[in-house]
Amino acid sequence: MTYQAATGGLLPDSAATPVRAEERSAVIDLDAIRHNVRHLAAVASPAKVMAVVKADAYGHGAVHVARAALGAGASWLGVAHISEALALRAAGIEAPLLAWLHTPDSNFAAAVAAGIDIGCSGWELGRIVAAAREQERPARIHLKVDTGLGRNGATLDAWDSLVGEAMEHQDQGLLRVVGIFSHLAVADEPERPETDEQLAAFRQILAIAQDAGVDPEVRHLANTPATLSRPDTHFDLVRVGLGLYGLSPFEGQSPAELGLRPAMTVRTVVSHCKDVPAGQGVSYGLNYRTDGVSTLGLIPLGYADGVPRIATGGPVRVEGVNYPVVGRIAMDQMVIDLGPRNVTAGGPSILGAEAVLFGDGADGGPTADDWARAAGTNNYEIVTRISPRVPRRYLNEEPFAGDERP
Ligand SMILES: *Cc1c(COP(=O)(O)O)cnc(C)c1O
Repeated sequence: MTYQAATGGLLPDSAATPVRAEERSAVIDLDAIRHNVRHLAAVASPAKVMAVVKADAYGHGAVHVARAALGAGASWLGVAHISEALALRAAGIEAPLLAWLHTPDSNFAAAVAAGIDIGCSGWELGRIVAAAREQERPARIHLKVDTGLGRNGATLDAWDSLVGEAMEHQDQGLLRVVGIFSHLAVADEPERPETDEQLAAFRQILAIAQDAGVDPEVRHLANTPATLSRPDTHFDLVRVGLGLYGLSPFEGQSPAELGLRPAMTVRTVVSHCKDVPAGQGVSYGLNYRTDGVSTLGLIPLGYADGVPRIATGGPVRVEGVNYPVVGRIAMDQMVIDLGPRNVTAGGPSILGAEAVLFGDGADGGPTADDWARAAGTNNYEIVTRISPRVPRRYLNEEPFAGDERP
C-alpha cells in the first residue's frame, strides 16, 4: 500500500478531547466470523466445513470463534494439539473435533475419553489403541497420508500396512476410522503444478483404503486457499482456518475480492505527542532522525504485544491518516512521525487519540497484510502472534446453543 501523506494543518480539535477508550485491545467482530463461515460453507457445499481454531483461533480466541463458527454452519472443529481440543471440550463444546499434531507425550487417553478425533500418521496407532483399551471406549481416528508436504502423514509406501493394521483394530472394536486426510503444500499459489500431484496421490490412497474395506465418514484435503480455488479438492470436508478470520491466502487478492471480512482490529491510543527539532533521533539505535521540525506520536504497543520488531514502516492510522512506524520497534512501544505540517506548537495534539494498527481495511485503513509486508511474513503470523498482553474484546456475541444452562 502507499501511505497517505499527513494531511496539512493542525489536527482537528476533537483530537484534544478524545473519547475515553480502552488503552489497547484486539477487537474481534464475531459477525465477521459468522459471515465468513457462511460464505465458505456456500463455496464448499456440498462438502462440510471444519473450522480450524488451533493457536487460540489464530489469536482470535478459540472458544468464542468455535461457538460463532458452529452457530453459522460449521459442523466440525480442528486443532493441532489434543490439549487445545480438551480446552474446547472443557468449555462445553461438543461438536466433532479433530486434533492432528501429537508427540509420544500427548494424552491420547484423555482424547479418547473426551470423544476427540485423533489424526494418525502411523506411530500413534499403538498408543491410541492402548488408550482405547484403557478407556474401554473405541478411539475415533483420521488416517493421515503425506501426499507431498513432507511433514506429518504416512508415506505412500507405508500406507498399505497402516490401513491394514487400523482395520484389524477396527474389527476388534478398538477404534473407528472416521476420516482419511492429507494437507496441501502450495494451494496458495494456484498456478503451481504440485497441487494436482498431491490430489492424484490422495485419490490413489483413497482407492487403496477403499479396497481394504475402509469406509470413512469424511475424506478431507482442502485448506482455505484450496477451498476458494480448487473445488476438486473439497471431497467431504474442507478445513478452513485463515478464511474464517477474513484474511486472504492469495498474494494480490484482497479479502473483499474473495467475499471475506477481516475479523480482528488491533488498536490502542496515542500515549505521547510532542514537537521535536530537526535531526531528532527516534528509538534504540537512533536509526531514524527527523528531516526537519516535526511532531512525534508514541504508540504503546511493541514486540511484547506481538508487533514484529522487524516491521518498521508498518502503518498506524490516527485521525484518518496512515503513518509509517519510524525507528526501531521496542518491547512496549513504537513511534510515528506526523511530519512538519502537524507541529502542535502547544495547540491540539493527538495525545489520547485512537491508533489502529490493522483492521478490516475499510476507508484505506491499515490491514494485517500491510504489517505482513512490513515484517516480511504472512498475514497468518501477524494475527496469530498478537500476545496475551493485548486483551481480546468481542463484538456481536450471541448466546450459544451448546451452552449448558443450569
Ligand atoms: C492449519 C491447518 C489448516 C488450515 O489452513 P488455512 O490455510 O488456515 O485454511 C488445515 N489443515 C491443517 C492440517 C492445518 O494444520
